[in-house]
Amino acid sequence: MNRARKKRAAQGSSPSSSPLQGEGKKDARSKHKRGRVFLVGAGPGASDLITIRGADVLGRADVVVYDNLVSPELLQLAPPKAELIYAGKRGGSEKNIEQTALNAILIEQARKGRVVVRLKGGDPFIFGRGGEEAEALARAHIEFEVVPGVTSAIAGPAFAGIPLTHRGHGSFVALVTGHEDESKGASAVPWNELVAAAHHGGTIVILMATARMRATLDRIRAAGLPDETPAVAVQWATTAAQRTVSATLASLADVSAREGIGAPAVIVVGELAGMREHLKWVERTPLFGRTVVVTRARAAASDFATTLRRLGAEVVEFPTIETAPPRSYTALDRAIKRIDSFDWIIFTSAMGVESFVERLKSRGGDIRALGDASIAAIGPATAARLADYALQVAAVPDEYRAEEIVSAIGIKQIRGKRFLIPRAEVAREALPEILRDKGAKEVVVAPAYRTVKPKGAQIGRMRELIASEKIDLVTFTSSSTVTNFCELLGVPAKGIRAAAIGPITAATAEERGLEVVVKPRKYTIEALTEAIREYYAAANGST
Ligand code: SAH
Repeated sequence: MNRARKKRAAQGSSPSSSPLQGEGKKDARSKHKRGRVFLVGAGPGASDLITIRGADVLGRADVVVYDNLVSPELLQLAPPKAELIYAGKRGGSEKNIEQTALNAILIEQARKGRVVVRLKGGDPFIFGRGGEEAEALARAHIEFEVVPGVTSAIAGPAFAGIPLTHRGHGSFVALVTGHEDESKGASAVPWNELVAAAHHGGTIVILMATARMRATLDRIRAAGLPDETPAVAVQWATTAAQRTVSATLASLADVSAREGIGAPAVIVVGELAGMREHLKWVERTPLFGRTVVVTRARAAASDFATTLRRLGAEVVEFPTIETAPPRSYTALDRAIKRIDSFDWIIFTSAMGVESFVERLKSRGGDIRALGDASIAAIGPATAARLADYALQVAAVPDEYRAEEIVSAIGIKQIRGKRFLIPRAEVAREALPEILRDKGAKEVVVAPAYRTVKPKGAQIGRMRELIASEKIDLVTFTSSSTVTNFCELLGVPAKGIRAAAIGPITAATAEERGLEVVVKPRKYTIEALTEAIREYYAAANGST
């Protein structure tokens, strides 16, 4: 948290809570006090290019009305109860809702007193008819707020390695539509004036550029910009499908046609477009162009997903496990009652720590009762969660292998000692067995939670992504993620490429017909991430 945010949080109003403030305030103009519409920019495509405020508002929505170009990942930020309304918005689709009907939906939903998020691709006020929607809301006296977004007009060039302004070379930018047909007398774009200005340095960014690309570029040439002016088209910018072609004003239409560049794309025309040759960067990120599925429980997934995104991947989060209370707390409650009799408590997962502490709390227990027990944590994530509770760990084997655990604890520390292992309801038996084998006096395994298949998984979307071969790799961090993935999907997972955290997970995946191509040497998320990076580095190197 930076200092400004800390300060605001301390004052009780974090920036993320501000959009909904004043919700209860009286509005003299309107009888409809609570309903409110947020025109939210979803960003250009990558799901982490929405703003913090946009994500926050989305998390409080009762209704989300979203466009075609909005990343489906973002819809998962809406509360599970939120109603999702698809507004289409792509030439020719029969599912498109007319603009007036759309405005009516926003108004009607707000009048029901609901928090309506109108989620629009890029920025809501750049070529997205957001202005018209705001006008309609204003006319109907509906309160609204605008949450700006990262427009594709800026992100597209950025992800192509093109600065839109540059000291000494480009001092203005024009964002124009390539959609209007001048021959039909409809163009409001003053091409001649723009081109005259572009002669003096400056960049023209064209959106909705593909259907009439040749005509638009010819129009610019006719207005006198030299044929050899650099021109670049970027399609599906910021996503795994991003493709970029570099050419000149005269050749871009041909090159794009040859390369099959279609909508959605932005075109950049001007001397600065030539800087891509030196500044292209996304193509160099190790996971560029790869779509990777993360199947871990949502709560645990976010660091992993973020790291993969940083490496250039498009990440689809498809949680296949969710945690629930165990069927019975009897064993855990009994252990908690005599917690001071244990010499060691071994936590095998962060969730184990969390559910143990929560249960202790809810039984009126006191963390100081753990006083005399030594604590072992399997893996750095488990140790980190213990550290959150200021619990010191005596041993941290960094992977889940019984031998590792035994040697981290030390053979001498096992003989004659009492062990408690609070963990998932169904888990492997190897650890308790080996402890008993090495002379432990008592080993109590206490189910602290259970993993279940989540409800409301985007199964249809995942099937579609797999059928259209858009998924490069599915990551599995435990056997149950594999089993649940296959069961949720309900279709054979044969041939899907997988990354498995350890040999047991890999074996489960192989049994299911998945092709396990990534197996880290160490069984940690960090090692898994590194192995994925290496796998694609090798693949990129050999192409
Ligand atoms: N409000 C949006 C623009 C809506 S108009 C924004 O600010 O980005 C739709 C046009 O946006 C498309 O025709 C295309 O030109 C552009 N566009 C949107 N997403 C894009 C993407 N990921 N890559 C390239 N162009 C994109």
